[in-house]
Amino acid sequence: MIPFNKPYLHGRELVYIAQAVASGKISGDGIFTKKCHEYFEARYGFAKTLMTTSCTDALEMCALLLNINEGDEVIVPAFTFVSTANAFALRGAKLVFADSERHNPNVDPEEIAKLISPNTKAVVVVHYAGVACNMAPILDLCRLHGVALIEDAAQAIDSYYMDRPLGSLGCLSTFSFHETKNVIAGEGGLLVINDKKFIERAEIIREKGTNRSSFFRGEVDKYGWVEVGSSFLPSDIISAYLYAQLENMDVIQSRRKAIWQRYHDHFVDKVAEFGIELPGIPEWATNNGHMFYLVCKNLEQRTALIRALKAKEIHAVFHYLSLHSSPYFLEKHDGRLLPNSDRFSDCLLRLPLFYELTDEQCDSVCNAVLEAVRSIPRAG
Ligand SMILES: *Cc1c(COP(=O)(O)O)cnc(C)c1O
Repeated sequence: MIPFNKPYLHGRELVYIAQAVASGKISGDGIFTKKCHEYFEARYGFAKTLMTTSCTDALEMCALLLNINEGDEVIVPAFTFVSTANAFALRGAKLVFADSERHNPNVDPEEIAKLISPNTKAVVVVHYAGVACNMAPILDLCRLHGVALIEDAAQAIDSYYMDRPLGSLGCLSTFSFHETKNVIAGEGGLLVINDKKFIERAEIIREKGTNRSSFFRGEVDKYGWVEVGSSFLPSDIISAYLYAQLENMDVIQSRRKAIWQRYHDHFVDKVAEFGIELPGIPEWATNNGHMFYLVCKNLEQRTALIRALKAKEIHAVFHYLSLHSSPYFLEKHDGRLLPNSDRFSDCLLRLPLFYELTDEQCDSVCNAVLEAVRSIPRAG
């Protein structure tokens, strides 16, 4: 059996969890949470980082920090995870879904340009598969219209746009350490604050709306309820697990990239004749080996492939269903067609990619894909 994903221990996870317990404090903002913050700020130059219980929660913090209210428009890609949109829907925002590029699931800047209106409060971009969106025109548009830019960098740890780390381009950005991501903690996330004006309120919102953080720094002599907020800070046990992974970031990334490259090299001259496209890495982007996918010719081919792989005990999976046509949003959508997002919904197939996937397993997946694709009758 080759699973789609497998969580793993990489080194000192269990040692650090024991240390956290021995320190006498495993609630939020303990020793390992601080180590994680220091790691991210030093390695990527982020102005301020705060560990959160998930990327979803970090996105909800973004919506609170930007004071998103009933009727404010937020432009979100249609091809993304529910949380990217849901965080703003919770605040009553009017979601405006933008289409992907033709040959890349990332949002098309020209689509954003068409959708910006005087009511637009924020643009959220998602760096799909850890590959940077075309940021220059998006940054220009947001600056020109005075609109906040948020990066949902859930999949984009240790990946770059030109020489700038992803997560450093928006006023606020978010990462995920869910077990399906590159570095993991089970559930967990990070809020990155690049615009320093948000730091104080972010600390308050994360601590149930209290100024507890400034109290512990001795800046105020008692703490109280100063804002609306929630409980967005994770236990130090989560950060202890994550910190052990961060210590091995380079090893993890290089193995994932090697698997990605192995898939790519296997398929590069062999799949175009079946109408299958491989992922492209634009010249402005790096690849962080988060995901390897194929874009099938059509839904029928993808369904047949998933079935054929399953028969060989290989778990390959499709990904997002366009949010503009989701059961929750369909009635609210303005009726615009988003054909590229729909095509990726129907045709994108993700192959197993995790740290412990062996070269032999990777080769079996490749052979199974090629064998299956050759045996599927070619319609028309
Ligand atoms: C994984 C993911 C999320 C959600 O992350 P959680 O940490 O599970 O909340 C949000 N957006 C994108 C693009 C993701 O891939």
